[in-house]
Amino acid sequence: MEKGCSGVEREPVKKGKVFICGAGPGDADLATVKAMKLLKTSDVVLYDRLVSKRILDQIPARSRKIYVGRAVGDPTTHQTQTNQMMLRYAKEGKQVLRLKGGDPFVFGRGAEEAEFLQSHRIWFEIVPGITSAIASPAYAGVPLTHRKYSSSVAIVTGHEGAEKEELAVRWDKLAGAVDTIVVLMGIGQLAQIAHDLVKAGMKKSDKVVIIESGTTKEQRVIRGTLGTIVKASKKAALHPPAVIVVGKVAGLADKLAWFRQT
Ligand code: SAH
Repeated sequence: MEKGCSGVEREPVKKGKVFICGAGPGDADLATVKAMKLLKTSDVVLYDRLVSKRILDQIPARSRKIYVGRAVGDPTTHQTQTNQMMLRYAKEGKQVLRLKGGDPFVFGRGAEEAEFLQSHRIWFEIVPGITSAIASPAYAGVPLTHRKYSSSVAIVTGHEGAEKEELAVRWDKLAGAVDTIVVLMGIGQLAQIAHDLVKAGMKKSDKVVIIESGTTKEQRVIRGTLGTIVKASKKAALHPPAVIVVGKVAGLADKLAWFRQT
């Protein structure tokens, strides 16, 4: 026991650390070496819905494995609870792995969690992951840049949260400003997005590709144009998670699709 300046005995300060870490887009082989090392050494793993089961299966039995995926309808309470858990375990001196799908800083709330930890003076590290925004298109043969077709990319959210925390995407400004638009969380709003982009001057014949459950055994790819994609995705009964890519590069899926699930 240490003696505090008041002379009262107190516990030595234990300091844990939180690793805010990306688990990659779905294919467990796309997790980083660093993520896999942390998985083996962490005392507690707090993980989200989109983290691959094959990755979670590698967590040693002695570690605590806690699902903190979004509870439907109450994102704020849910985030507060996750923050409190990180805080509690870190204060107990534990190594905490906060594992998120894709990359923690790409629509992953990783920065908000880091801000929270920083405000409580808890050590943290950010471990980037391969984002689904890049990997899902890649598994469908779609490069986000190309010397001939695309010199610029925007990654945007299609989701306007019920709590309206997200800044609204200016679709009118986006159309024409970049060559490739990648939309995450956009399936529910697909019709509106296609409509807004056409209204902003894009053509109905502009190419679109949607990758559902990209990089996993369940991957499906739906191809079309701004004019046809809504119908095509309804016909395919598309569901999240899915990435939408709009622009000339989407057309390369016809030629470069290479991923065959076994
Ligand atoms: N941080 C994550 C994104 C979290 S937001 C990342 O970097 O990938 C959740 C959205 O990511 C989903 O709505 C979907 O648009 C996308 N997403 C995540 N995993 C996906 C996958 N395997 N295939 C297609 N889209 C995916």
